Amino acid sequence: MTIFSVRNVSYSYGTKKALDDVTIELDAGRFCALLGPNGAGKSTLFNLLTRLFVTREGSIRIAGHDLAREPRKALAALGVVFQQPTLDLDMSVAWNLQYFAALQGLSGAQAKKRIEAALERLSMSERAREKVRELNGGHRRRMEIARALIHEPKVLLLDEPTVGLDIESRIAITDHVHDLTEAGLLVFWATHLVDEIRPADDVVVLHKGRILKHERAENLCAGA
Ligand code: ADP
Ligand code: ADP
Repeated sequence: MTIFSVRNVSYSYGTKKALDDVTIELDAGRFCALLGPNGAGKSTLFNLLTRLFVTREGSIRIAGHDLAREPRKALAALGVVFQQPTLDLDMSVAWNLQYFAALQGLSGAQAKKRIEAALERLSMSERAREKVRELNGGHRRRMEIARALIHEPKVLLLDEPTVGLDIESRIAITDHVHDLTEAGLLVFWATHLVDEIRPADDVVVLHKGRILKHERAENLCAGA
């Protein structure tokens, strides 16, 4: 089932074309890597998907909702992990997640249940009471991912989520995120690191704003 579709999307900064007629259709329950070098257009695409930028050319659908016509419904189906961490360092893990839950209109027992479930999925339950400042980089990232799951999105976007982390932390994160697809979540993971596409089911290669290739990972390996 198509849960995420970007159709004929283009975007320019003045005369600089950052995305050129991009089309991507993805199914639920898969891990899709968006691979591209710096400058390929990954962040621009993410800014359109999260509606920081307005899509003027082409259209985007998330979980069946058109992002321009039904933004609230479309964005409710989206969990986002940005490249720059956005946690409050002096609050505990639990407080950071509760704050986000409240922003999503969740409170009381329901919020508590969702937070516990999200922490559990990232193996972060043990650390709920620690201050973010006390966590290492890998655990902070895992907590950001947990936070992005609280409102139970259908699609999880991650923009280079392992930048600056050591190899063990990176593997722990990709493994945890991969497990999330088993419950039907679509993971859309942007990276310029080829080794991070190892666990991907699908690989979309973006280069100078254009899709060079969209392959099921098994085909890429077979062709290598
Ligand atoms: P990536 O995230 O893959 O590194 P970006 O989406 O940041 O790529 O950039 C795509 C292209 O758009 C690059 O050529 C970049 O230089 C250009 N670009 C990005 N942001 C701006 C901006 N604010 N103004 C002008 N050009 C930009
Ligand atoms: P289907 O898988 O049957 O195409 P979708 O829910 O994906 O169902 O789409 C429903 C309708 O919306 C179809 O007519 C499809 O062509 C159209 N559609 C899907 N994605 C987009 C998009 N990004 N932009 C414009 N139209 C779309």
